[in-house]
Amino acid sequence: MSITTFHPPSRTLMGPGPSDVSPRVLEALARPTIGHLDPRFIDLMDELKHLIQYAFKTGNALTMPVSAPGSAGMECCFVNLVEPGDKVIVCQNGVFGGRMKENVVRAGGTVIAVDDEWGTAVDANKLEAALKANPDAGIVAFVQAETSTGVLSDARALTALARQFGCLTIVDTVTALGGVPVRVDEWGIDAVYSGSQKCLSCVPGLSPVSFSAAAQEKITSRKQPVQSWFLDLNLVMGYWGQGVKRAYHHTAPVNALYSLHEALLILREEGIENAWQRHQYHHQALRVGFAAMGLDFLVSENEQLPQLNAVVIPAGADDAAVRSRLLQEYQLEIGAGLGVLAGKVWRIGLMGHGCNQKNVLYCLGAMDAVLGYMGAEINQGAGVKAAMDYYAASG
Ligand SMILES: *Cc1c(COP(=O)(O)O)cnc(C)c1O
Repeated sequence: MSITTFHPPSRTLMGPGPSDVSPRVLEALARPTIGHLDPRFIDLMDELKHLIQYAFKTGNALTMPVSAPGSAGMECCFVNLVEPGDKVIVCQNGVFGGRMKENVVRAGGTVIAVDDEWGTAVDANKLEAALKANPDAGIVAFVQAETSTGVLSDARALTALARQFGCLTIVDTVTALGGVPVRVDEWGIDAVYSGSQKCLSCVPGLSPVSFSAAAQEKITSRKQPVQSWFLDLNLVMGYWGQGVKRAYHHTAPVNALYSLHEALLILREEGIENAWQRHQYHHQALRVGFAAMGLDFLVSENEQLPQLNAVVIPAGADDAAVRSRLLQEYQLEIGAGLGVLAGKVWRIGLMGHGCNQKNVLYCLGAMDAVLGYMGAEINQGAGVKAAMDYYAASG
């Protein structure tokens, strides 16, 4: 085998993540590596905590990036908060809620399942019924932004309900953060995790997390040690904790943390409220474009995530062949359907740095051309025009 330096192709990433990474973030990644206990690196860690608190809208002291992807952030929340025998209500309306259930079981907890149809939001009435039927449940978990379907659930209402019944909450904001409002303190969320590669547009592999005082109290007063050594926050706090002298726990992914720092700085420079608006604005353009082409959205608009758009695959289109042509001929990546939606929808991401007019028009144009060329039933030529009309009217 002849192996030489790897040069990735230059793609436009409009799937469910990773999203396009800003050159500023890539440049940060390439700066010289320093030690994970270097005083200058400690300064960066303090700033990073501050920037993550900004993104989550929280003052939680226990806020940090887990040195691993969103799935590890999920696992970190569950293994630390769930003790053997704990009853956890998990609301599932897509793929990622299913992973939450699996995490509860593996942490020795009991799952109370609240299931909703894929493509619809978590039903607060069903959660309330489960809370009433299970007064001994201690935790409620749900996904705010279901990346498998493009559905936004009402995190504020679900958290308020859980609190009313004395439960802690674990909320997945991997795709939500930076694209739609996440207000950890105002809503009273106890444990929250996200991912670097979705609307934060950083490189994959990091998971910002944050824990309320009540969650921290449960973690520090556990009867049994956390079964994961790496994710045990009682140990991680010795490195990421505030004030105290930091001690080695694991070697932080130093350069990746430079890049997260830069990505969050970009978000703060824009203003997170402006980022939410930008996602909504370009989502509308994509929506009118697809509507004009005659393509349907899976999710009704009042529950639709702006950053993840599931479009129903039209008659006459071969799912895999279309995606492969987009990749080969347009360098454009869109996402396939997951689970029960495999072969039924495409998932088109408008996340972070990649959520802009150029990408909207590029995606509509490329899909119009490829679908038309392959003989699918669409109104050819109408999508880009509708989106351009939208931009002209609102710009
Ligand atoms: C992507 C995603 C995850 C998993 O994150 P990874 O970085 O792929 O491990 C978890 N939850 C949701 C909702 C996601 O979209």
